[in-house]
Amino acid sequence: MKRLAILGSTGSVGEQTLSVVEEFPERYRATALAAGRNVDKLADQVRRFRPDLVSVAEPGLADELRRKLAVNDPVAILVGAEGLDAVAVHDADLVVAGLVGAVGLRPTLAAIRAGRDVALANKEVMVMAGALVLREMKAHGVDLLPVDSEHSAIFQCLVGQRREDLSRIILTCSGGPFRTWSEDEIAAATVKEALAHPNWDMGPKITIDSASLMNKGLEVIEARWLFDVPPEQVDVVVHPQSIVHSLVEYRDGSVLAQLGLPDMRVPIAVALAHPERIPLDVPRLDLAQVGQLDFEAPDRKRFPCLDLAYAALRADEAAPAVLNAANELAVGVFLDGGIAFPGIAASNAAVLNAHIARGGAATLRDLTDVVEADAWARACAREWLTKEASA
Ligand code: MG
Repeated sequence: MKRLAILGSTGSVGEQTLSVVEEFPERYRATALAAGRNVDKLADQVRRFRPDLVSVAEPGLADELRRKLAVNDPVAILVGAEGLDAVAVHDADLVVAGLVGAVGLRPTLAAIRAGRDVALANKEVMVMAGALVLREMKAHGVDLLPVDSEHSAIFQCLVGQRREDLSRIILTCSGGPFRTWSEDEIAAATVKEALAHPNWDMGPKITIDSASLMNKGLEVIEARWLFDVPPEQVDVVVHPQSIVHSLVEYRDGSVLAQLGLPDMRVPIAVALAHPERIPLDVPRLDLAQVGQLDFEAPDRKRFPCLDLAYAALRADEAAPAVLNAANELAVGVFLDGGIAFPGIAASNAAVLNAHIARGGAATLRDLTDVVEADAWARACAREWLTKEASA
């Protein structure tokens, strides 16, 4: 029986994790659940999964949850950052880090410092604090099991191989909705067009990031730290069908790939069951029916965000956090109609260059350094975008 603590239990990854728990009750038990504000869904999860401990964002929500549960329900209810940390270090064999954004950083680090293995879906953890997290992982001997589809693919292609034999990691990329668009067409793209992702149904922030290829850039950063490989050993190839989820090349020229139909339950199941595999009820890949798989090089001129990620990795340990924060802000402004689509990349480049020019922190000593880099980048991006809007 594997005991799971789930950070972000009412989000998309949390719910799909719990659906796997429900399908395999003899293998998994959810012992602690951290939600944010969705009290209705959390109350339902408490009734179905009987965790020892849950947490919500605020005291008012804790009262509301208590009222929704049976009077004698024994579940402990905690609140806020303290609640997240308690769930992260609760008695569990694996912590599923399924929160979205910077809020997941602190509890995930707490889980690692408590020696818990982590199934990581919260990509900002590695993007913002990869260097720090990697050092903590090594110090505490914990395993990080990636839940992102590309990183799960790489993880699967690395199992059983010697690290010294690896020559290159190749991340696949759908190319997003603007793959075949000209530079002028991209410059005039509407929010609605940017939100139309061809293969995956995701939230608005990550969908915009897929259109700009910033998402792939963030995944390059994630891969660099997750697998502890230098950035020049991480490559990207565009593959519009999203059937090959990523590949690893070895020094004898062999390339291993992981394939499947796009379904997040697969990487979740891989992370939960490793080193075993569970008989998951998902649609099967029929290559004859797919017929054709296409690949092309990413166009770094039409999609400059990709190279910004490599530039950040080459700069210093804080630069990825700077790029991530600048991008979050710019995407928000784009979604609100404040800038045209190319403004996202332009703002990101300006903020990253300003960070490099100011000679910021070369190493991330602790979370305070990450928080500082993040806040500085947001302020810098806000200033740049305001100037841009009034120009
Ligand atoms: Mg991905």
